[in-house]
Amino acid sequence: MSRTLVGRVVAVTGGARGIGRAVAAHLAAGGAHVAIGDRDTEQARAGAAQLPGKVEAFDCDVTDTSSFSAFLEAVRERLGPIDVLVNNAGLMWVGPFEQEPEEAARRQIEVNLHGTIRGVKLAAPAMRARGSGHIVTIASAAARLSPAGESTYAATKHGVLGYMSGVRSELRGSGVELSVVMPGVVETELAAGTATGAARLLTPEEVARAVAALVRRPRFEVSLPAYVGPLARWAQV
Ligand code: NDP
Repeated sequence: MSRTLVGRVVAVTGGARGIGRAVAAHLAAGGAHVAIGDRDTEQARAGAAQLPGKVEAFDCDVTDTSSFSAFLEAVRERLGPIDVLVNNAGLMWVGPFEQEPEEAARRQIEVNLHGTIRGVKLAAPAMRARGSGHIVTIASAAARLSPAGESTYAATKHGVLGYMSGVRSELRGSGVELSVVMPGVVETELAAGTATGAARLLTPEEVARAVAALVRRPRFEVSLPAYVGPLARWAQV
């Protein structure tokens, strides 16, 4: 059975630009009430004002539990109970593993993996109490393909996959859905200058369409192809 987007309350982390912004735009155009949470609130607010439909922007740093919690609370106050959380905020360091600074590794784990864990822990209990809700995490094709130059990034996305899968087992029968989206390389700042050009890249809108389809008809995993192999920023040097 397909569900409507109209009136659904959706919170998207890292929605000021890139995939998160496209997801916010697409879901709002479909009638959802969308809240963008980003560190860069000014950019998020300016962006939200240009989007069609009902989109509001809030402060949210997914590495900070009180900031993330305050974001979700503000969304509940302004828009009502959260139907869908999209864990989208993420970052990537690219290069040979020996050269990766410890801080870059720590940051990717903190944002990509622990940010998702925080999101689930903060959003799922209220969803379970209501008997409905959906948490979608933007993982990556890197979780399965583990391309050269992205070892820690791939590890965080492997972790996200394992975590979402584990919590899904715990929430089976609760009415709360969990999903992961596994895109190949998408044309955003995160991937800027990294692809070989050997294949077509995905657009943020294609990922947004996949998220919208998932929200309408939940399932656990959606893979989007167009992965172009080892990233070129350092591999071609
Ligand atoms: P972008 O870098 O274009 O956008 C990421 C957004 O997340 C930015 O607005 C950024 O804000 C925000 N953000 C970063 N850290 C935090 C934080 N601690 N708290 C809140 N917001 C934060 O990335 P993409 O749109 O490309 O990526 C979105 C997601 O999709 C990520 O999880 C990424 O791993 C995943 N993905 C991306 C692919 C790609 O090829 N682009 C492929 C597969 C998956 P700020 O400007 O302040 O940093």
